[in-house]
Formats: sequence, structure tokens, C-alpha cells
Amino acid sequence: MLIDNHGRVINYLRLAVTDRCNLRCFYCMPEEGIEYVRRDELMSFEEMIRITKLFASQGISKIRITGGEPFLRKDLMEFLDVITSIPEIEQVSITTNGTLLRKHIPELKRMGVRNINLSLDSLDAERFRKITRRDNLSEVLDAMDLLVDQGFKTRVNAVVMAGKNTQDIIPMVELGRNRPISIRFIEEMPFNGTEGQGNQGFWSYVDILDHIRSHFPNFVKLNDGPSSTSMNYQIEGFQGSFGIIAAYSRTFCGTCNRLRLTPQGTIRTCLYDQGVFNIKTMMRQGATDQEILVALQSALNHRAKDGFEAERNRIKNFPVSESMATIGG
Ligand code: SAM
Ligand code: SF4
Repeated sequence: MLIDNHGRVINYLRLAVTDRCNLRCFYCMPEEGIEYVRRDELMSFEEMIRITKLFASQGISKIRITGGEPFLRKDLMEFLDVITSIPEIEQVSITTNGTLLRKHIPELKRMGVRNINLSLDSLDAERFRKITRRDNLSEVLDAMDLLVDQGFKTRVNAVVMAGKNTQDIIPMVELGRNRPISIRFIEEMPFNGTEGQGNQGFWSYVDILDHIRSHFPNFVKLNDGPSSTSMNYQIEGFQGSFGIIAAYSRTFCGTCNRLRLTPQGTIRTCLYDQGVFNIKTMMRQGATDQEILVALQSALNHRAKDGFEAERNRIKNFPVSESMATIGG
């Protein structure tokens, strides 16, 4: 079992399989994109499988595949086929922008993938284009409809940004009126690939909840899971639910059960840390499984209590400025 220095059991891996992306969401990267890591610096298919199996043997039972855009990785479906058959892995879920997803849905269903998070920040074509700098809203909506139709546990994640999409909050909550969709609003974080370009007029989880309450006064609080990052609610008469992820206010660190592995093989024990060691380098230098596990446990023995401490511990000249696509959001 993996346990950190604060007694938190780690059973969840967020694995970013690529830093490449076909969208250019402005809160994630600049218009010209980010400097991608060299192909040979990305973890290989074999390396990702080795690590997944090793971690599974230590109690990791949930894996979320993210990126960059995971469906840009050529061998993704083969990789999923392998990891969905690892006995200790109880749940494989995916976070995707949905643009390339639709054709893979039958195969994902066959593999037993049941949980898909779609990132979608606006239901309006023009606002979607402004936010993502691309024109793919219809592909994402098609994928969403098929996911629901095929019985996937579908979540829609929207980053809330003042002056950009706050007018979408209520229409997005409405997505759950007649469909079992969970729509989750995320506070914007500074991981936008550009140093010092903060969000103007930040909307906190309190602002988001107050806004929803002013339109729908009758909602009830749902039971959040034990390590849930979202506070979840249901409006009377709705099939679906809505939730808020206080990603910047960091309200959920006390129960954090997550480990992150970046596309280039860096372990992050917190989204806000700067990376604690590189597992791919260790593997390429011939490290044994035991050596990797010792390095991992040592990292967990020094894990920050929360995202604020992790951010404080970053070296002075290394402010939060990397793109979420290089971390795996
Ligand atoms: N490309 C996939 C997607 O968009 O779903 C997976 C990777 S993306 C980095 C994962 C999640 O991070 C998305 O839901 C995205 O909205 C979120 N994200 C990216 N940059 C963010 C930021 N600066 N603040 C908050 N959330 C962010
Ligand atoms: Fe790409 Fe996802 Fe970042 Fe948008 S949020 S640019 S879809 S990695």
C-alpha cells in the first residue's frame, strides 16, 4: 500500500499519456501552442505499462488517462486494452476534449471503460471557438450524446472564466435536467503556459455556487465520495447533478489520494509541486522495480500537506506557469 507522510492512502494515478493537443484552450496554453517534448522523451507504451502494473501491485486501483489530448496518442487504444485487463485496476477513466472521441466509444465500452470526463467550457459555438481557438463544438456535442446514449458515466468539466463563459453556467447546469450528466465547474488555475498572465476577475467556488443558487434556489447537497475533489449538488427534478471543483482554492487536499505522472515521466505528488523525480529516466538507466518503489515511497514521505505548501516549496525562480497539458490536468 502507498501511504504518504500525512497518512493519506494513495490509490489513484492520473497518467498523462501525451502533451500534444489539437485545441488551444487559452487557460491552458498560448495560441501558438507550447513547446512539445521530443517524441523520444515521452514515455513509451512499454514504459507506461510497466509503471501501471508496478503501481497496481502497490494498491493503485484507479487510473485516469489524461494529457494533452489522450486520443492524439497513436497507441492509446492498445494501451487501454492492456491496462483495463490488469486485475488490480478496478477503474480506468479518461479525461478528453471529446473532439476525437466518438469513433472510439464502442471499443471503450467493450473494454469496460465506463467513466469519461469531457472538457467543454461553452455550449455556444462562438464562445467555444474563442476559448479553444478551434471550431470543434459539434464533434464534442456528438460525442457527449453518444456517451450518454451508451450508458457511460458522463461528466462535463467546464473551467469558469470571468468575461469568457460565465453566461454558460446556467445552460450547462440545464444539461442535467433530462440526462444523467454530471456537470462540474472548475476554478481557473494559473497553469496556462504563460508566466504571470493571471485570470482577471477570478470566480471562486463560492461565486459559482451563489450564481447557480440565484437561478435554482432548490438544490440539495449530495454525498461526495471520500476523496472527491468536487462538491456535488442536485436540483430538484433533475436527472443529472452539478458539482464545483475548487481547484485554485484547494479545499480538498486533506483527503487527496492522487499521484500524477506526466507525459515525460515525472512524478508529481501534488498538482502544484514542480515534480519530484523522473521515473522514465530511472527506467532508462536500468532501475529495478524495487528501486523505483523506494524512490516513490521516499517522494511520498516528503509530500506537501496541501497545494499551498507544494506551491511554496517550488524553487523561487520557478513560478507556476507551465501548461496543464504538460502536467495532466
Ligand atoms: N485535453 C484533455 C481535456 O481537455 O480534457 C485532457 C487534458 S486537460 C489539461 C485536463 C483538464 O484540465 C481539462 O478539463 C481542462 O479544462 C483543465 N485545465 C486546463 N488548464 C486549466 C487551468 N488553467 N485551470 C483549470 N483547469 C484547467
Ligand atoms: Fe488541449 Fe485539454 Fe489543454 Fe484544452 S485543456 S488545450 S483540450 S490539453
